[in-house]
This record gives sequence, C-alpha cells and structure tokens, in this order.
Amino acid sequence: MHHLEKTDPRIAKLIEQEQQRQQSTLELIASENHVSAAVMEAAGSVLTNKYAEGYPGARYYGGCDYYDQIETLAIDRAKQLFNCKFANVQPHSGANANLAAFMAMMKPGDSFLALDLSSGGHLSHGMKLNTSAIFYKPDFYRLDPDTQTIDFESVRQKALQNRPKMILCGYSAYPRIVDFARFRQIADEVGALLMADIAHIAGLVAGGAHPSPFPHCHVVTTTTHKTLRGPRGGLIMTNDEELSKSINRSVFPGSQGGPLMHIIAAKAVAFQEDLQPQFRDYARQIVANAKALAGALIEHGYRLQSGGTDNHLMLVDLRARNENFTGADAEKALEAAGIITNKNAILNDPRPPKITSGLRLGTPAVTTRGLKENDLKIVASFIDRALHAKENPAELTKIRGEVAEFCRRFPMPH
Ligand SMILES: *Cc1c(COP(=O)(O)O)cnc(C)c1O
Repeated sequence: MHHLEKTDPRIAKLIEQEQQRQQSTLELIASENHVSAAVMEAAGSVLTNKYAEGYPGARYYGGCDYYDQIETLAIDRAKQLFNCKFANVQPHSGANANLAAFMAMMKPGDSFLALDLSSGGHLSHGMKLNTSAIFYKPDFYRLDPDTQTIDFESVRQKALQNRPKMILCGYSAYPRIVDFARFRQIADEVGALLMADIAHIAGLVAGGAHPSPFPHCHVVTTTTHKTLRGPRGGLIMTNDEELSKSINRSVFPGSQGGPLMHIIAAKAVAFQEDLQPQFRDYARQIVANAKALAGALIEHGYRLQSGGTDNHLMLVDLRARNENFTGADAEKALEAAGIITNKNAILNDPRPPKITSGLRLGTPAVTTRGLKENDLKIVASFIDRALHAKENPAELTKIRGEVAEFCRRFPMPH
C-alpha cells in the first residue's frame, strides 16, 4: 500500500475503505471467505509479470523454470488434498473450469442433465444465456417439493428419457449432503459421465466435513476462493488418464491463453494451508456454526428450505416469519445493519428473481474470523432485529454500530 498511496491515492483509499468494511461487518455470503496474508502475498507477487502458456516442462515461452516448479507444487498439493490422480490448476475461475470440463466431455450439441439455477444450480449449469446452454443441450432434474432435497426419481427418469452424455451434480445453493454414489448408479445405468461441481463445498470435502466426490465422479471441478479459502480461481480434477488429457487441451489452448501464475502460486499456498490438521477443525467448525445459526433462526420463527443444513449454508424462507419480508428488502436492511448477505429464490418462489422470498446465508467467512456456535446465536438475533427494523433507518444504524463493536472481537486473518 506504501507505493499505491503515492502513485494512485484514489485507488489506495478505496482499498483501505474496503478493508475497513470487511473488518467491521459480518460476511455471511456463502461463497465468500477471507484469505491469509500469505495467499495475498503470492497473489500480489512478481509472478504476474510472466507468460507461461503451456504446462510444466512444455511451455511456449522461455524463462519458465520457476513457474514449472510452482505449478507442479500446486498440482501435487491439489491431488493430495482431494486424493485424486490428475489436476489442472489453470482455470481462471469456476465458470471457466466448467466450460473446459464440458469441452472435455462433450461435443457441441450434446445433452447434459443438471439442476437449474432457480433450484440451486449455477448459471454455468445450463442457464440459457450461458455457453453451457448456447453450445450444449441442458435438461433439468428437480427438487422434491416435500423434502426440498434432490429428487433422485426425477434424476433417473430424465436420464432414462434423454440419455444425456453427462450428469452434473454440485450446487450453489443447496444445504444438504450430495449423494455422489447414488448419482453414479444412475449415470452408469444410462452410460453417462458423472461430473461434480464442488465449488461451494470443496473446503468441506478437503477438511473431511462432506463426503468426497471421488471415486464416484469422472470429473470434478471447483473454485478455489470459497470454502477452500484460496485466491479467486478454478480447478479441474479426474482419475481418468484419457479425460485428463482432454481436460488439459480444453483449458489450454481450448479456452484460455496464458495462465495466471501469481494466482496459481497463491492456489499452491492455499492448498498447503488446507492440508494442515487445523483446516479439518475449520471445516468442522463451519458446519457446526451453520447448524447453530440455522437452529437459532428457526427459534426466531424462520423456516429453512429442507428444514436445516448439513453444510456451510442455509436458505431462509422469510415468509414464515412475516409474509411481507422479501429477499431484496432483507438484503438491503441487513446491509444497512452491517450484515452482508444475498437474496435467493426459494423453491417455487412466487416472487421474481430480482425480489425473491429468501436469503442465502453461509458461515465460511465468519468461521475464518473465529466465531463459534454461541456467537452465531448472537448473529441470528442481529439478523432478526434488523429485519424487523427494515423501515427504521435509525435503528438499523444503531445495530450497525453494535455489529461493528461485536466484529472487533474477531480480527481478520493475517
Ligand atoms: C461459484 C460457483 C461457480 C463459479 O465460480 P466463478 O469463479 O464465479 O466463475 C461454479 N459453480 C458453482 C456451483 C458455484 O457455486
């Protein structure tokens, strides 16, 4: 920051303000986290200067010696972390990882079966404006309306009906354990490949707090910046040698040019952190905290989709507490109170996607800051108070002060 203050004080000031914002608010967005200073140091290093198109030992530019060693370390650590045979650490993001994985498994026009965006899937799983729907043919299974969990009967029926090339599991807003073995049975029955996108739960998988997609899934993709607590980026893994070759081709030169080597170094640093015994405690604590928050919200009169959570996130159906609460209002009121969340459609939401009747809440970031179960009960009270004060700016400001005071007890990682 020392240099930036002199050369570009406006940006320096904005970064400083953002740091302050992160410090003084509660981050409950399920896909966000706070990385270590070590991860940021690697991401902000001289490695940003170099082109390293290609793979370790086979680059298109000279001077890549150290980059080969860095990328090899990142690959080895990813393989160790997820107990698999092949890893590609170059995808710039989760969506890019998915695009490359799709290219490795399917030809344009091939069909796949997934959960749609409004039921908890990701936009890269066949949303109509995304490449996944422009180049491929998505079909969707559904959630059981009673249990609000994966309806495996609909997965099987759709699979038998349309014989997809690939079946996709793993989600952005699903609070329950994913039964990879059961998906594999169906995939085998119809001769489909099985892909898991564990973008959200990767840290739980790595930390032993969620079952592993291996050996059930043919291809596994993830982001590195959510529960894995690394830099923003993507990762693709497989145990199949043939698939690993097509995955490598699909990433480079299929869909990307030069890899972001500073980010790959930061991924290696994060994977090393994730391999430590303390990371298992972290993963366990994320889930314990989510259960504590869920339980406290239910006590306050809220309803949770599927009735609770097994992982790091929950979907709150606000209507049970008050028919007039919308996701959009709630997100706004909570932000004014220093609690950062996102509105989220609930199953068969009567309100449009820009309004919604739900909120998605997650505990990865607050767990990084050191909050424990009892602290999450306090967080639930802050949330309930703020929602009831949604038309009372003075009260929201008062809560914001209390939240900032509360946050002082939980320093950012360094
Ligand atoms: C977050 C997420 C992604 C995409 O990650 P980006 O890095 O934002 O492209 C992909 N799949 C799922 C299930 C996600 O939740």
